[in-house]
Amino acid sequence: MLHVSVPPPPPTGGSQQQGGSACPARSVSQLHKPRRKRREEKEEEDPARLTTALPAVAPVMARVLVVGAGLTGSLCAALLRRELPQGLLRIVVWDKARGAGGRMSTSRSSHDPRCSADLGAQYITCLPDYAKKHQSFYEDLVTHSVLKPLTAPIEGVQMKDGAENFVTPQGISSIAKHYLKESGVDVRYTHQVTHIFLKDGKWQVGFNIDSSDQFDVVILTMPVPQILQLRGDIKNIINKSQRQQLESVSYSSRFALGLFYEAGTQINAPWAAQYISDNPCIRFISIDNKKRNIESPDIGPSIVVHTSVAFGTGHLEWDKQKVQQLILDELKNIMPSLPKPESIKCQRWRYSQVTQAFPSSPGQITLHTKPLLVCGGDGFIHSTFDGCLDSAMSIVEALKSSL
Ligand SMILES: Cc1cc2nc3c(=O)[nH]c(=O)nc-3n(C[C@H](O)[C@H](O)[C@H](O)COP(=O)(O)OP(=O)(O)OC[C@H]3O[C@@H](n4cnc5c(N)ncnc54)[C@H](O)[C@@H]3O)c2cc1C
Repeated sequence: MLHVSVPPPPPTGGSQQQGGSACPARSVSQLHKPRRKRREEKEEEDPARLTTALPAVAPVMARVLVVGAGLTGSLCAALLRRELPQGLLRIVVWDKARGAGGRMSTSRSSHDPRCSADLGAQYITCLPDYAKKHQSFYEDLVTHSVLKPLTAPIEGVQMKDGAENFVTPQGISSIAKHYLKESGVDVRYTHQVTHIFLKDGKWQVGFNIDSSDQFDVVILTMPVPQILQLRGDIKNIINKSQRQQLESVSYSSRFALGLFYEAGTQINAPWAAQYISDNPCIRFISIDNKKRNIESPDIGPSIVVHTSVAFGTGHLEWDKQKVQQLILDELKNIMPSLPKPESIKCQRWRYSQVTQAFPSSPGQITLHTKPLLVCGGDGFIHSTFDGCLDSAMSIVEALKSSL
């Protein structure tokens, strides 16, 4: 059970003192009758007091920290807001990055922020099994123009029967942004969690080296190896069996290159994106604005290149500049007439997609019940929109059953 404490009512008059600082949860109707009667009588004498006297007791909200403003964390925030009464929880989302999205991130050209590229996830694939289960989520995202059906030609794509692909006209990070906006929660970027301590029945969460704050509930949504890197009491709280299972979770690694061009640049290719199976370095190329169906004469095109997992793993610890040059050299072999970009961004995805999920894919696991500490994310299920959604839903269920 999560304890939501209610403070004693404030004194209603100069002479009325409340005894004791801690008292059990109670509602306005449970307050001492005689005192209330006296107050009502006073209010009748002075109508202006009515507005200031109500409510006499406001419940103290449980503070919930969601670590990660990627898809799972953003969905958690939105679902908690949807499913639990306003005023019960005060939710805060922290992310070490400068913006939302996590591995569903959208990068922007330093010359023109309207020229953008999705360096992580490329599109959302809705499989038939999930189309019904998550129908309302897809409908909501399509209604708000966050998702649009993918109509541009993708060469070499392998589609399962009945599957449907969706793109994000405003960039893939717009999905997480949509849920954060819906939740209305307080989101803090450049907040890197480093320590989690248990102190006086609450979580003392350390961030950015020398700062900390206290929470009643903590939800971790980052890749599993980054959970295992956290210091403080969490190290002892994770039991031996959980640690073994967490250590069994694995991810592929790859690099992504974003090439940003000046407005008016022509990229000549018959496809919007292409999977390449016979190149040791490059696995996927996308003309990102074409893939997203947002080609415009005023905004420059952008290209995204994903390396193969074998190349990513083999060069994981290499200097990024050197890796960038290797990818550009290989790209020139595949697309010799490609013009020179205005700017380039090289992204190292150490934890790209889940290759081995947490045993039996529970969506979340509870590391500690009182106070509650749970972790979820694609590592606990699989690396898709539907996986993150299932994970977020199971995190919310875990929190609800602790209330
Ligand atoms: C190259 C690539 C291609 C992909 N292609 C697809 C695709 O086409 N379709 C698809 O559905 N999926 C795809 N995926 C997978 C998809 O992106 C992920 O499954 C999904 O984004 C995972 O979301 P998440 O919220 O669980 O984790 P994340 O997106 O990793 O979010 C975790 C967040 O936690 C933050 N964080 C980490 N540590 C800390 C800390 N200590 N303190 C504070 N914040 C912290 C991170 O900055 C991040 O924002 C792809 C992924 C990659 C990398």
